[in-house]
Amino acid sequence: MTTEAASYFSRELLTWYLGHKRDLPWRLNRDPYRVWVSEIMLQQTRVDTVIPYYERFMAKFPTAAALAMAPEAEVLKCWEGLGYYSRARNLQAGAREVLARHGGVVPDDKEAVSALRGVGPYTAGAIMSIAFNRPEPAVDGNVMRVLSRYFCLEEDIAKPATRVNIEKLAASLIPDGSAGDFNQALMELGALVCTPKSPGCLTCPVMMHCEGRMAGKEHILPIKTKAKPPRRETRIAALVTGSGEHAGKLLVRQRPESGLLAQMWELPHVLAQGALGASAPAKRRGRGKASAAEAAVQMAAADVIAAAAAAAFAADAGAAETAAGSAAAFPHEPAALAVPAAGVTDVGTAADAGGGFPDEREAGTATDRRAAMADYLSRALSAEDGLLVRPDAWWGETDHVFSHIVWDMQVYRAEFGFWQAKAADAAGSPDAAESGAGYGEGAAPSHYRWIGPEEMGTLAFPNVFVRILHDYWSDLD
Ligand code: SF4
Repeated sequence: MTTEAASYFSRELLTWYLGHKRDLPWRLNRDPYRVWVSEIMLQQTRVDTVIPYYERFMAKFPTAAALAMAPEAEVLKCWEGLGYYSRARNLQAGAREVLARHGGVVPDDKEAVSALRGVGPYTAGAIMSIAFNRPEPAVDGNVMRVLSRYFCLEEDIAKPATRVNIEKLAASLIPDGSAGDFNQALMELGALVCTPKSPGCLTCPVMMHCEGRMAGKEHILPIKTKAKPPRRETRIAALVTGSGEHAGKLLVRQRPESGLLAQMWELPHVLAQGALGASAPAKRRGRGKASAAEAAVQMAAADVIAAAAAAAFAADAGAAETAAGSAAAFPHEPAALAVPAAGVTDVGTAADAGGGFPDEREAGTATDRRAAMADYLSRALSAEDGLLVRPDAWWGETDHVFSHIVWDMQVYRAEFGFWQAKAADAAGSPDAAESGAGYGEGAAPSHYRWIGPEEMGTLAFPNVFVRILHDYWSDLD
């Protein structure tokens, strides 16, 4: 790298930015709280997607104190659809720290800002430079790409040592007194011109000295070793419809207080095990659409599903009524749900065998697989939550992509039956509880509730369930 190429880069980039910067809502002023919120929202998310969320969020929580004091459910609801919900929780936790330790004002102090929950080196650098004009680098994937290309750096940007070196380089390029504008200029160049797949070198303000372009390497830089592809797993979900006082409503449940998607709402669903868990390759976003041929299969599948589930449901209902049924008649414990019931080839055979229904059929047709999934869903919900449902049709399929995992979501429509409770709970007998004998009819667990479409406005759901529920309600209109 020559000094001339470096000073040319800083000068030309800054001039270009001042003339071309986009009018974005977080650039209205340099309020550090506004900068902080925008940087957290922009992680892993496109600018166009973020803008309406940012405006709603700032209208609702205009200061760190307002965010700190808001109920978490309201914050999650405002974040619904942006994904990566731990960002919202950490942001609120950070706002609470700002309120408690700094009187509600984000401090002009790099160490204190870096100590806030959810604030890593990039976000700290962005806040310090944009809000306080401190000469701190803010290096994310965009910036590493631009600098790798401009300076023709061939080190692997997935390695921490490369990031450290690029941070030092970025810091050395910041022009005196223009840290905020320069860092935003780098981000803007990466977003608008030096894009990942098709760098627009001909319109680039720094093309004259770009070493990557001159070496013909703009399309192969930056070098980045591939991350492991996300693991796919099949989840089977139920659109459980109510009757009587719950007519027109669907059953939903709230996730636990910690872990993935903590405290968000969802449809009841189970993780498919064994052969049922071997999902199709990634191909879908949104509800799967059936072709004419598939539709015919689905019609057949619906009959098989209904027959299988009806028998399983009847078997379970029987167990509940007697409250002392044989454990072998219906596998209530999760361990008993393991697949497969190999060799079972039709519903009649399975039912007649007295062991319930097949989890996986050797024939492996779509109809068989869907019937097996419906049966599995019914059994697993019963075992895990004491929820008795009767799946009556396959409804659709969709993917939900996390950074490390992909849910292949298979969705079934199901009728509500009743809530099971261990007979011991109903009778208050610890002995019966220990023996594991029998089940009786019980009350709904507190994390479940019935909702109509109007409650979609108050409960926060992960994207995948928002899509399914919106589709479901709009199909009914
Ligand atoms: S000239 Fe091309 S490769 Fe170099 S910084 Fe500009 S857009 Fe990127």
